[in-house]
Amino acid sequence: MKFDHIIIRYGEISTKKRNRKSFVAKMRRHILWSLKDIPNVELTANRERMYIILHDADHKEVIARLQGVFGIQSLSPALKVERDIEKIKEAALYYMNQLSDPVHTFKITTKRADKEFPYVTNEVNHLLGGHLLRNIEGLKVDVKNPDFNLLVEIRREAVYLTGETVPGAGGLPYGSSGKAMLMLSGGIDSPVAGYLSMKRGLEVEAIHFYSPPFTSERSRQKVLDLAAKLAEVTGSFKVHIVPFTDIQVLIQQQVPANYSMTTTRRLMLRLADQIREKNHALAIITGESLGQVASQTMSSMFAINEVTNTPILRPLITMDKLEIIDLAQQLDTFEISNLPYEDCCTVFTPASPKTQPKREKVNYYESFVEFEPLIEKAIQNIETITVVPNQQTIEKEMEGLF
Ligand code: ATP
Ligand code: MG
Repeated sequence: MKFDHIIIRYGEISTKKRNRKSFVAKMRRHILWSLKDIPNVELTANRERMYIILHDADHKEVIARLQGVFGIQSLSPALKVERDIEKIKEAALYYMNQLSDPVHTFKITTKRADKEFPYVTNEVNHLLGGHLLRNIEGLKVDVKNPDFNLLVEIRREAVYLTGETVPGAGGLPYGSSGKAMLMLSGGIDSPVAGYLSMKRGLEVEAIHFYSPPFTSERSRQKVLDLAAKLAEVTGSFKVHIVPFTDIQVLIQQQVPANYSMTTTRRLMLRLADQIREKNHALAIITGESLGQVASQTMSSMFAINEVTNTPILRPLITMDKLEIIDLAQQLDTFEISNLPYEDCCTVFTPASPKTQPKREKVNYYESFVEFEPLIEKAIQNIETITVVPNQQTIEKEMEGLF
């Protein structure tokens, strides 16, 4: 005996009305992509749920894959058996033996949609319960607060058993919220911000500013390695690498040291916004967290944000560093982020950047500097790389979901 299907429950999509179809279609596409190398699995759906028909595929592997698909609330392995009480008993015992956590107490809840079935609900509960008690040592019945509730549904065409519920990733289907550009550094925060944005349905591409020779080839590779982790969500991830050295050097020369960080961030944002427009995205995502460093105080954000009115999404804004690290560890990006290679901002960070910069002052300092030609040159020299999981980079798009 083997599980033969998996029930997929929608999360928030089920509350959508008019866009529901397109939400479901996007989730369906992500599911099919995530199972593409498992032979014979089949996806069916009705209004409330989707079902994966396993056709002998390993249910644990399929569930593990589905746990990476956004928009899924929860998953349950299930069995379909003939309307024969002996077969149902056997299936109930199999279900109990397959549970991932050991249970000490259980109950059985039978629903009899087909009233012609020869046993009434209570009889089924007793027959199955007795069978389990005889076959599993130490197991007890607890109808009020059981460790596990086995659900048995008797229908005209067959009997269905389910009960174990595994959490899904939640969120909204990938791509259902449109597209945004992630400012990706080599740090801990921005990859987490990128993941959370994708989870909320955004299609994400990254922008990375690098400053050779002040930053090394290894720091650039670190960013691509982080991108490769994010690529696990859909199979590929695009990174726009922007040469930033000339602009940073000019800032060092022309802007007073205590305002150089503020101006650097403003220039990054101006460039990011132009790249966003070219790539038809509607927002910029950063890994900022309120008050974490000088550039992330409220005054800094007020001074920096002045250069654009494009929405800036900051998924981590209210999180503490430890909470962010916890997420980075779960996503497996923490170790990569923790590698010591220098980032363009660290190299140029002044000894005491302003934590309370003023808009008027930064505008005044910048008014003496001709940034436009360098901005244009940087935009022209962007290198766009598509990264796939396991840290390989490829020249052109392939294989990815979108
Ligand atoms: P992170 O861990 O993401 O690097 P951080 O705490 O080190 O963040 P900062 O270095 O001040 O903070 O960066 C704040 C945000 O600015 C980052 O989360 C990222 O979105 C963006 N950013 C910083 N440096 C770069 C870079 N070199 N290229 C692209 N974006 C950057
Ligand atoms: Mg950083």
